[in-house]
Amino acid sequence: MTTKLFDLKGKVAIVTGGNGGIGLGMARGLADAGADIAVVGRNAAKSNEAAADLASRGVKAIAIETDVTDKGAVAAMTDRVTRELGRIDILVNNAGINIRNPPHQLEIGEWDSVISTNLTSAFLCSKAVHPAMKQAGGGKIINIGSMMSIFGASFTPAYAASKGGIVQFTRSCACAWAADNIQANAILPGWIDTDLTKRARQEVDGLHERVLARTPAARWGAIGDFAGIAVFLASPASDFLTGTAIPVDGGFSIQG
Ligand code: NDP
Repeated sequence: MTTKLFDLKGKVAIVTGGNGGIGLGMARGLADAGADIAVVGRNAAKSNEAAADLASRGVKAIAIETDVTDKGAVAAMTDRVTRELGRIDILVNNAGINIRNPPHQLEIGEWDSVISTNLTSAFLCSKAVHPAMKQAGGGKIINIGSMMSIFGASFTPAYAASKGGIVQFTRSCACAWAADNIQANAILPGWIDTDLTKRARQEVDGLHERVLARTPAARWGAIGDFAGIAVFLASPASDFLTGTAIPVDGGFSIQG
């Protein structure tokens, strides 16, 4: 029997920050390809709503209230996924925040909060799922970087450091766990219309127009733009692809 390239039936995915924005866009793609989904976030009501949306696509979906910066909570979350959904094949490390301040004004608490939410959480979750993936004979880890994985900006030192770190963390997991048949890749979104960017769009003068001018596709990304790449990186179609960082940005990063 040939393996279906993009078939995720029988697979189980954890999507951190899967209750909205890019995470929900990816979770919907994974669910449409047949995967059961655990939606992980702090806001229980929002996560329950997302799980209901995913379940309506014909898969099992559960919401797990978790702060991904908390090692104990992450361990409890992965235990629950194994208990209730039976296995863990796919982890999407998508939870993220931004605090905008130039380096000379950024407080250490703000730095710690961004680094722990965007970067340390990926380490905690990846380490927590490794035994289950190894036992299952393989797995897929998808980490969410940013254009700030490549570029710098004066007002996002902690965010850029966390997103640069995500790419290097991805490469390290790809090397360490290749022998376990675990592929780890990163997605680098361009400017996407979500709650995260709504405030920046309102507060930063001219941001909306600058994004349109710099993006060859001449539009902001939508959360649905992340369904296809998530399915590709979670499926057998990408079995020989590991350690990469793929821009999904309408061409933002290649325009000179
Ligand atoms: P949203 O604000 O819509 O989503 C962020 C998600 O992260 C929420 O679901 C939130 O859920 C979750 N989250 C935040 N902190 C925690 C935490 N401590 N524990 C668990 N979950 C947490 O933003 P986006 O969809 O835009 O962002 C998703 C990812 O994409 C982030 O990593 C972001 O950096 C990245 N990205 C976004 C871009 C954009 O233009 N929008 C561009 C480049 C990268 P809850 O509040 O329930 O905890």
